[in-house]
Formats: sequence, structure tokens, C-alpha cells
Amino acid sequence: MNDHDKHIRVHIVDDDPADFLIIDELLLQSKRFQFEVNHISSISEARQELIDPQCDVFLLDYFLGPETARDLLIEARKVHCPAPIVVLTGVESGTLDDEVIQLGAADFLPKGDMTVSLLERTIRHAIQHKRAELELEQMVKRDPLTGLGNRLLFEEILEGSLARCKRAGTRLAVLFMDLDRFKEINDSLGHPTGDLLLLLIADRLRSVMRESDFVARIGGDEFTILIEDLHDAEDALNVARKIIQAVSQPSAIGGHELNVSASIGMALFPENGDAPIKLMQKADIALYEAKRKGLNSVQCFTSNLQTQLERHLNIEKGLRHALEHDHFELMLQPQWDLRDRRIAGFEALIRWRFGSELIAPSDFIPVAEKTGLIVPIGEWLLQTACRYLVKWRELGVSHYRISVNVSPLQLKTGHFVETLQSTLKSTAIAANLLEVEITEDSLLDGHEENPKVQQDLSRIRELGVKIAIDDFGTGYSSLRYLRQFPADVVKIDKSFVSGNGGEALAEPEICRAVVTMADSLGMDVVAEGIETISQLTRLRAMGCRMGQGYLVSEPLAFDEATQWALAGEAVSR
Ligand code: C2E
Ligand code: MG
Ligand code: MG
Repeated sequence: MNDHDKHIRVHIVDDDPADFLIIDELLLQSKRFQFEVNHISSISEARQELIDPQCDVFLLDYFLGPETARDLLIEARKVHCPAPIVVLTGVESGTLDDEVIQLGAADFLPKGDMTVSLLERTIRHAIQHKRAELELEQMVKRDPLTGLGNRLLFEEILEGSLARCKRAGTRLAVLFMDLDRFKEINDSLGHPTGDLLLLLIADRLRSVMRESDFVARIGGDEFTILIEDLHDAEDALNVARKIIQAVSQPSAIGGHELNVSASIGMALFPENGDAPIKLMQKADIALYEAKRKGLNSVQCFTSNLQTQLERHLNIEKGLRHALEHDHFELMLQPQWDLRDRRIAGFEALIRWRFGSELIAPSDFIPVAEKTGLIVPIGEWLLQTACRYLVKWRELGVSHYRISVNVSPLQLKTGHFVETLQSTLKSTAIAANLLEVEITEDSLLDGHEENPKVQQDLSRIRELGVKIAIDDFGTGYSSLRYLRQFPADVVKIDKSFVSGNGGEALAEPEICRAVVTMADSLGMDVVAEGIETISQLTRLRAMGCRMGQGYLVSEPLAFDEATQWALAGEAVSR
């Protein structure tokens, strides 16, 4: 303990004034420490003081009117009370001792045995232990690259700040910041440069924040900032603008001059909620909106975004219900040979049956991905696709492939490969009748190549299941990645085919480049969204062999698709 540790601030929580005086007297006799004592006579009053940063230690009487130290110890743990609590009691009991220690008390002292030196020693040890415990805790809650807090620590600090603001009737703001186009910088200049940039950004954030603000890094290029003591929303907006200004200064790193920009989403206490999770959720939603608006934008959470959030929650509830009650349907859209329009396979496309309506995936897949529900939904659709193949086999139709769309989250967190393996085994379906479609973006995790995804893809291929890269050209396309990832088919996104609503091919150059590239890598190409003869002819002339689109057929219900399959089977015989 150093010199300033000689001054110790003690909160004595005891409903008996006589006991308080005895302890106070003893502490005053100390020659080693200078104790500053504060008397608290009830649990409810003590509760208010648990997060008091001025307090070094609590001496807490076990029995306090109708309540006991238990209640306060439980509360202390909940609010992450930074001071140790030593429990005092008039009765000596081994079980009480065990009980309070388990609840997080630093020590247990019988009042009868108290001497100055015993009190001094107990208090000193309690403070030292608590400090070590907090340091360790902080280490686990730090981002190793920048030394900033991580999400855990941010949530914890936010909880403490909220409690303080509620008491003081003040405002606070939670900011979510995300660097724009960080992935591109990281990919083109390499991870070491990306890391240096993150370090520089962390420093700039530290330099514009006040002592009382708190900054954390909660993901690849995502930072959160907590600002206390605000007068109004305008105050918080000013800080956000200052941050953006600091972050978007040109950065000289490794011989490159980098221009980064950032987007910020913001939520305020008390306007937007009073729980950490709510405020973080809302700041995140506002960030999403800021990113949509463009580079260097700041967005406050608004009632409009609130409506969006409610819609999101409603969809989530509906999806859970739909999963339980089997309210999904799997439609099949034919994929055909551009030369003779003979069907080669079908893409499975999900629909949500809601009363008499069929809801399109674009209305619910984003929510399913955000909530993780895509994992059980994905399992359902894999099983359904296999069930379809079994039915066809029973009808003597056995050479049409079904492709299923797989969301990145299924590969990252689910047991997709295991489910695939066991489904193939239990249905005895030939693996080459299944194809997995993944989008280009799922090959990367934030800005990094995801080894788990890559591994899973290799395992899928080892099973004999084909892999198609979906919506090619819309994500962060890079030949480098395409070479690296095991895939059999590339699907040209429909925006390049019929995206402009015209008769002709929308982006002939891009289509041609994808066909040439796929050819050189020995991959097949499927053009999506073919709506007109002119598009078909042009694609065929480029050497694209397969297509999919309304020109031949929209997605079909299973029975109808079965008719197509039976007819095609008859032709091919
Ligand atoms: P996708 O995998 O690229 O699917 C192709 C989408 O294009 C389908 O939309 C299909 O109905 C539509 N389409 C087909 N032909 C044409 C055409 O000629 N013109 C136009 N304009 N559109 C055409 P859908 O069914 O609404 O699905 C949208 C997206 O939702 C899919 O894009 C896929 O990313 C996702 N999705 C659909 N089903 C599933 C699923 O079961 N699981 C997952 N994870 N995602 C799915
Ligand atoms: Mg697809
Ligand atoms: Mg697609």
C-alpha cells in the first residue's frame, strides 16, 4: 500500500448507534491509517451507496432490522460494487461465516473480538484482495490489441453509470462507431496494417474523450463510447462529430496515407431506455441507419427506428411460432440448360406461410440471421429438401439436383456439416443430388478469412455435395478468394442479368468477366434472374451454360415442381 492508501474511507452500515460508536472509536485509535468514517443506518440507504466511488470499504452488520447482510451482498454483486464488504456480527457462527463469504463478503468478524489491529488488518487485506480481483477482472475484459475495454466491460461500466445517472437525474449517451470500408483496407494492405490502423484510431478516440467517458472495442472495427454528464442530445451530437473529425484525419501507416471514415449511431438515457442492453441495441440500430446514409454520418435513435425495432421483434416472435407450427414452405425454382432449356436441377427457396399470405425471404431472413433463428430454420429446410428428393426417388425421378441456400451463420455457429452428414445417411440420398449455395460474403468473417467456414466447405465437398457461390459480384468479390475457396459453381447475380428492368442484359461486361473467370478455374456458371429471350441469347453466346429465372419459371410449389421433374425425366429417357 502506498501513501495515499493511508487514508481510508469506511462506510459503517449498522442500525445500532452504540455499535457504530464503538467501531468508530476503535478506528480513531489507529496509528497506521487515517480512517474517514460515514454512518449508514439502514439497508435501503446502504443500497444507494454501493456504487459510491469514494468508498474504500464497507463494514456491514449482519442483522439490520428485518433484513440481513445477505440482501445487500446480493445487490452488491449485481451492481459490481467496487469496494470490499466486511460483515460484522454479534454472534459467532461457522455457517453464517460460510454463507456470507460465498455471497462475496471479503471477511467475517465477530464484534466481540474486535481490536484496533484486527480491524486494521482485516480492512487492509479486504482492500488489497478486492483490488487484485478487480485488476484480474479488468484484464479479462480488455481488448488485447488496443488495451481498450471489451463488450463485457462496457456493459458493466454502462450499468454502473446508469445507476449513477438515475440517482443524479442526469443524462448519458451510448455511441456505436464503425469504420467505413475497413475490410477493404485490411484486405488490400494486410492485417498488420489493419492492426496499426486500429491502434491509431483507439489513440485518437482516447485523445478526444474526457476522463469520465469510456471507450471499448467490441468487434473487428466496432467501438462503443459512453458519455456521461450531458445537458442535451445536441451535446452528444457534438461529441460524435468531434470523434468523426478525429478519426477521419489522414493516417500515415507503413508508407501509406489512409483516409478512413466512420459512422456513429447513438442512444440516450433517459429518452431511449434505462437498461444497458436496450441502449446498446438502439445505438446499434441507429448505427445501421447511419451506415445506410453514407460515410461519416451520425444518427440518433428515433421513433421511426423504434417502429423498425418493433417490426423486427414481431417478426422474431412470428418466426419462432412458425418454426414450432411448421409454417414454412420450400418452393423449387428450375435451373435449366441455356441451349435446350432442359431442366438440370432446382433451387430451394423458402417462404413463410402467414394466413393466406406467402412472405418472401427478404422480409424475414435478415431478422432470422440477426437472431440466430436461421440455424434451426436452415436445418428444417435441409431436411425438407432431402424429403423432397426421397419422394422423387419413390416416383422414379432420380437425377435432379436441389440447391439449398446456407447462411454464413449456419457455418459459423451451427453444426451444419454434421446435420448434412446425418441427413444424407438417414435418407440414403446420393450426395451429388444436393448443392449448397453460399454468398460470397460468408467466405469472410468481418475482414478476416474464416478458417471454420473454409474447413466446413472442404468437409461439405468431401461428402460429395457441390458448392455454389451465390450472388457473385455483389459482395467483396475477389479472384484471390475464389481461388482459395473450394467451389464448383458460380452464380451470376440477377442484378447483372435483369437488374435494370430492360430487355437486354443489364451488365454484359460483368457477366462476360465472370464466365471467363469461372472457365479458367474450371467452375460451372449459372446466370440468375433471366427474364427475357434477349438476355438468354446473349448469355449463351458468352459461353454461359446454365440459367434460372422467370423466363422459364418462377419458384414452384413441390407438387408442381414434381410435374416438371416427371416430364423432364420422360424427355431425358
Ligand atoms: P437467391 O438465393 O439469390 O435466390 C434467387 C432469388 O431470385 C429468389 O428470390 C428468386 O425467387 C428470385 N428470382 C428468380 N428468378 C428471378 C427473375 O427472373 N427475376 C427476378 N427479379 N428475380 C428472380 P427469393 O425467393 O425472394 O429469395 C431471395 C433471397 O433470399 C435468396 O436469394 C436467398 O439469398 C434468400 N433465401 C431464399 N431462401 C432461402 C433459404 O432457404 N435459406 C437462406 N439462408 N436464404 C434463403
Ligand atoms: Mg440462392
Ligand atoms: Mg442469388
